[in-house]
Amino acid sequence: MKPGITIFIASLALFGLIAIQYYLVSDLYHLKRNKFDTEYGTAIGDGLEALQLRYNTNGFDTVFYLMDILAYEKIEDYEFAFNDSVVYELNGFVKESFKSYLETFERVSPFLLVYLEEVHLDTDFHIGFFFREIQLLDQDREYLVFTDGEIAGTGNETSFGNTEAIHANNFRIEGNYFRVEFDYYIDFTHKTRIIYREMAGAFILSLISILIAGFVFMITIRNMLKQIRLSAMKTDFINNMAHELKTPLTTISVASSTLVNTDKNPDKEKIVSLSEMIRQQNKQLGKLIDQILDINLWEKDQITLKLAEVEMKPLIKSRLDAFRLEHSDEAFTLRDHINLDGIKMLIDEFQLTIALHNLLSNALKYGGDPAEIELESGIETDHIFVKLKDNGRGISYDEQSLVFSKFYRGKDVANRKGLGLGLFYVREIVELHGGKVEVFSKLGQGSSFVIRLPLANNNKL
Ligand code: ADP
Repeated sequence: MKPGITIFIASLALFGLIAIQYYLVSDLYHLKRNKFDTEYGTAIGDGLEALQLRYNTNGFDTVFYLMDILAYEKIEDYEFAFNDSVVYELNGFVKESFKSYLETFERVSPFLLVYLEEVHLDTDFHIGFFFREIQLLDQDREYLVFTDGEIAGTGNETSFGNTEAIHANNFRIEGNYFRVEFDYYIDFTHKTRIIYREMAGAFILSLISILIAGFVFMITIRNMLKQIRLSAMKTDFINNMAHELKTPLTTISVASSTLVNTDKNPDKEKIVSLSEMIRQQNKQLGKLIDQILDINLWEKDQITLKLAEVEMKPLIKSRLDAFRLEHSDEAFTLRDHINLDGIKMLIDEFQLTIALHNLLSNALKYGGDPAEIELESGIETDHIFVKLKDNGRGISYDEQSLVFSKFYRGKDVANRKGLGLGLFYVREIVELHGGKVEVFSKLGQGSSFVIRLPLANNNKL
């Protein structure tokens, strides 16, 4: 399956999981809210019933008594003079008076507060009245003063009348001079918080499951992209290797054809030089094949170090001398300051020599023209360091994190031979020795590679 399709399907699955979790959580919220309403609604109902039983009143006696007096006064004031404009005038006044009586004198709130406390429910609530109708009653006439169902209360008015507040009771009271119908609401301040608290467990679990799925998704995608990059790098490597193999093969083929021809006219010197050429190229072929074999070993994590006690200074010195000899026909300078007198370490000499060789080859390959290479080595607290500095074009900051990757080759190195394995190998070997390799560079200012190997395990030597 193409990676794009896999990512699309995986994203779809993740999105589906998030949607399902969202649906479940919001469904749970509605369930919990209904449960809250039922639980608190029942408690309020029981509380009001208890009030009725204990005091033989619905709690609004004083209010209704005062309302009767008020209604009587109004009827007296306006006897035989009620008309639309008077009723309109009375509307605001009567409503406000009823409202303030209800709020000031009603006995329900304090009783409910104590009752809810007793049954261990939240007691932070506001009351609200939803007026449906107010009428003033004369002996044989009724004056409809107010009927717009306006809401009044002590709390946040918008919560009354909508689903948030609990409908506690409906009153339809008829006194001597008035008739009023209103709904009694109770709004709990911390309703949402209480519901969320009850949902916390389910919410956290669902969040964790989404996070885990998201994490797995990201890791999978990252691994997939890594695989794609690695397979592209492998293709590059094979192309490079094919190129690398062709050069010695061509040289051998040309040299051997020339040898066949010189048979007719033997020239010893030429034969020796051609044979030497064939031998050299053969050696090069052998090296390339070894590299391929090594890669297979690395993939299986099978490098095992053959550790032995080695004196460090002579090891580095002899590698430097061999390098100078190998490249005696090239113009470059190689200076060294090795302060490791008498230091012996438990290392794999063969592998570390190759690592050193790779760094030296790179310094020459990517160094300036002519290359100026400087090797410095010494002891720092608990480790030895080997620093190799060149005067090349340097490595950009972005590239520095890539140069140690398997098969990585810089963008502008096409004309320099290589397989992108040298630094990878250096890092593998150094890390197997418990050490670290780092690069320090700025474009145009050369590069420094520093290997650090711990002395910890070697102190006893
Ligand atoms: P190769 O030399 O075969 O390309 P390496 O693993 O040795 O592979 O190096 C990887 C890349 O790091 C090189 O292609 C080059 O771009 C960069 N590089 C390595 N050493 C140096 C150096 N001394 N100066 C500048 N660039 C370097």
